[in-house]
Amino acid sequence: MKVKCIMCGKDVEITKLHKDYKKLAANPHAAFVCESCALIVSRQASRGNILEKK
Ligand SMILES: [Zn+2]
Repeated sequence: MKVKCIMCGKDVEITKLHKDYKKLAANPHAAFVCESCALIVSRQASRGNILEKK
């Protein structure tokens, strides 16, 4: 199944083994974040360093 990462817009092929497969199969519009973006997000979160520049 192909899904689109909401952060980088990359199309990613996921299998039934993917943790979010059921959620995305049930709702194709559910938010999906690819592995590389998920890494970036968790790194930022663990640093507690979310910038709020506007
Ligand atoms: Zn991504």
